Amino acid sequence: MNPLVVLGATGSIGRQALEIADHLGLEVVGLAASSPSPELSGIAASYPGARLAVANPGEAQIPGLVGFGVGAEAISELAATPGTTLINGIVGSAGLSPTLAALRAGNRVALANKESLVAGGELVRRTLDEGVGELIPVDSEHSAIFQCLQGESGSEVSRIILTASGGPFRGWSRPEMAQVTAEQALQHPTWNMGGRITIDSATLVNKGLEVIEAHHLFGFSFDQIDVVVHPQSILHSAVEMGDGAIKGHLGNPDMRHPIQYAITYPRRLDSPAERFSLAGSALTFEPVDRTAFPALDLAFEVGRRGGSAPAVFNAADEVAVAAFLDGRIGFLDIVEVISRTVAQLGSQPVSDLASVLAVDAEAREVAEDFAATSSRARQVG
Ligand code: MG
Repeated sequence: MNPLVVLGATGSIGRQALEIADHLGLEVVGLAASSPSPELSGIAASYPGARLAVANPGEAQIPGLVGFGVGAEAISELAATPGTTLINGIVGSAGLSPTLAALRAGNRVALANKESLVAGGELVRRTLDEGVGELIPVDSEHSAIFQCLQGESGSEVSRIILTASGGPFRGWSRPEMAQVTAEQALQHPTWNMGGRITIDSATLVNKGLEVIEAHHLFGFSFDQIDVVVHPQSILHSAVEMGDGAIKGHLGNPDMRHPIQYAITYPRRLDSPAERFSLAGSALTFEPVDRTAFPALDLAFEVGRRGGSAPAVFNAADEVAVAAFLDGRIGFLDIVEVISRTVAQLGSQPVSDLASVLAVDAEAREVAEDFAATSSRARQVG
């Protein structure tokens, strides 16, 4: 197995990837994080041979942290280290450039950064179609589908079924959700994840992003992608074959499984994750309440529109979630801000990375304006 470059090394995915690297005895040759921090310094001390990069220079000198690259270029350069596997655990559309850089270098990308495919799906697809690089999903749902599709290359697949936990507000009405605080929304029932993805799980924006991600990863039309609520998060997702047979992937909600599989694929090696016991487990499924959670239908809509629309959806969400976590807008305003931004900017064709980044920047500005409007309305109200 190749040495690893880990982006988002101080985050939830990055830390678990490093645990897997230690478990498998893999070399770590690159580490990147959003800014210099004592956490990054501590991690770097454990991997003295690794090159370091940060997105932002930060304000203070961090003891033990020297000689690191700064900026998006430095991170993409790290991602393109020849003969490595990239763990892309960056949060947000900033993850797209390193994904493309790693693929173009012929590397395997273990992709946890779903925004690479949401914002730049057409570009990533084009790069893979040129026959360079390899993309293995780390997102638990997509890893499950990827695993279900193994050995089925000649088979008819009717549809893929993404499971959703439903988040902390499953069963709530919209008036009930109007008063939700950041603290409440950060309590995910089954998965322990980073801040933005936890909020995205509460609004179901995350599932919407995953629908678009699945479309680009596996090439299914949006009509072939279903979402079902499964509160226990044990069935990670499923595939319905042409004969009606459903193949699913089960296990504890533990990201170490999909991270490790993306590293060892096609091999399966012993894992530090706890094993799941079927006996005594009750698994339930229910439809998504699409009225209470309009983000899902909005995601299908922008996915079908294609072009720049999914990148706008994602960028607006990044802005709206930050505004919600700052207490500037309410919980329901998150999807409202996204919806307005998407309506205002529509969709244009995207030809290259620069056009995706331009759309992303424009969507952030428009979303900031809508968030400011919601914020003022809130203060008046
Ligand atoms: Mg997921």
